[in-house]
Amino acid sequence: MKIFVAENSGFCFGVKKAINKTMEAINEQYKKIYTYGPLIHNKQETDRLSKLGVKSIDNLEEAKDSQVIIRSHGVPLRFYEDAKKYNVEIIDATCPFVRKVQKIAKKFYEEDYQIIIAGNPRHPEVIGINGWCNNSAFIVEDEKDVEKLPISKKICLVAQTTLTLEKWNLIINKLEEKTNELRAFNTICLATKERQKSCAETAKKVDLMIVIGGYHSSNTQKLYNISKKYCEKTIHIETAEELPLKDFHKFNAIGITAGASTPDWIINNVIKKLEDKGGDQDGKQ
Ligand code: SF4
Repeated sequence: MKIFVAENSGFCFGVKKAINKTMEAINEQYKKIYTYGPLIHNKQETDRLSKLGVKSIDNLEEAKDSQVIIRSHGVPLRFYEDAKKYNVEIIDATCPFVRKVQKIAKKFYEEDYQIIIAGNPRHPEVIGINGWCNNSAFIVEDEKDVEKLPISKKICLVAQTTLTLEKWNLIINKLEEKTNELRAFNTICLATKERQKSCAETAKKVDLMIVIGGYHSSNTQKLYNISKKYCEKTIHIETAEELPLKDFHKFNAIGITAGASTPDWIINNVIKKLEDKGGDQDGKQ
């Protein structure tokens, strides 16, 4: 049984940075530390941080006189003002790719463009970006949403960093039919594209694919869907304990991929369990 680990899997650059900043803060700890919302969509990792004293809050007031880590998704602009009000010291782990989208939204809003965000309106990254243009953005999930939009001024279109290229193309095509005053910024993050591409490549050559990541992680869910297209037998797990070990002898080649918020220690636990069952890792592809 060969084990193939997708070349681009696990923590992306932005999440790695957020975890490193958090670990630095824990090491220097001189005030209570909170994260604004769970630092990443991975329960095992947030449980580990919680044992080290880092709790997640939903309301800044709860963190009065303490330190608060902004996660890689970013926050609305007014969060920084509110932090001053409660004497909260900010540790800003907003991913630089997300910051770029926030800055575009702010700049073009100030130049009187109508901002449109292609993405999920309930996702904290999108809520954050909208907070950089005075919560005035239209948020579209697909091309059908574009049809309903009342367009009366110049448009600036940005994307949630985890949007698929497929959706971006459909949305932009539909918008081009409605306006000829469009500035479009494809702000889809490369890390997402790379993970999806490596996932598809690995899934094509194995007979079982294991996708590791939080059940609430949207990028892990996307990897699962992509994998399923090429490898009928795809399973999604959060930890090594969930591996259905008794069936593994049936497979010749097993592929592994992991969402952008899955820590290496969880991926390594899964590989170790497979090796204990006779798996032979072919190394990173
Ligand atoms: S997926 Fe991309 S934009 Fe999102 S945190 Fe990771 S590197 Fe940053």
